[in-house]
Amino acid sequence: MEDYIPIAALNQYCYCPHRCWRIFCAGGFVDNQYTIEGTSLHDRVHAPGEGQREETWQIRAVWLKSERYRLIGKSDLIEEGNGCWYPVEYKRGYRGEYDNDELQVCAQALCLEEMTRKPVTLGYIYYAQSHQRQPVELTEALRQQTLETIAAVTQLLQTGTMPSAIYSPRCKGCSLYSQCLPKVKDKLKRYQESA
Ligand code: SF4
Repeated sequence: MEDYIPIAALNQYCYCPHRCWRIFCAGGFVDNQYTIEGTSLHDRVHAPGEGQREETWQIRAVWLKSERYRLIGKSDLIEEGNGCWYPVEYKRGYRGEYDNDELQVCAQALCLEEMTRKPVTLGYIYYAQSHQRQPVELTEALRQQTLETIAAVTQLLQTGTMPSAIYSPRCKGCSLYSQCLPKVKDKLKRYQESA
């Protein structure tokens, strides 16, 4: 399985390439309140099972795989209704301002298309705090962004080259902040450049 890309790595890379490198190349995952809440949510929804809900067939904790894109990952929930299959990804909290979760759903949809040989046009993100499902339209733009991210993560995992840690508003909720210290590195770099 080593040459398959974990779908979760695409999410991390889209959030921050340096974070992706720390987790998937340097093996340096660290929890914070948000990641613990996320893990406990996934532990609850990852109990394998299937069933019918009105007209919709639901299957939990299915492994998704794409030979074409070399992707692998466990889905939270796959549904089928009216002959259409689609992924539902569970997330803690409310809808965020970044598009990394949409990209993860798109990667799941690429796997599902290959596995079912049917087009997938829509996916969903279920936000646990608001109990709302956010539709994710699998547009050409999102597909393109996902393919570009797959290429970037493939290269990252093959070369192990560390992307720079660049301070941004995303750092605020990042569990790796105390390991990464992007502000300090920024200051140091500017100091060295001006010396
Ligand atoms: S603290 Fe910021 S730069 Fe460092 S890994 Fe987290 S998001 Fe990326």
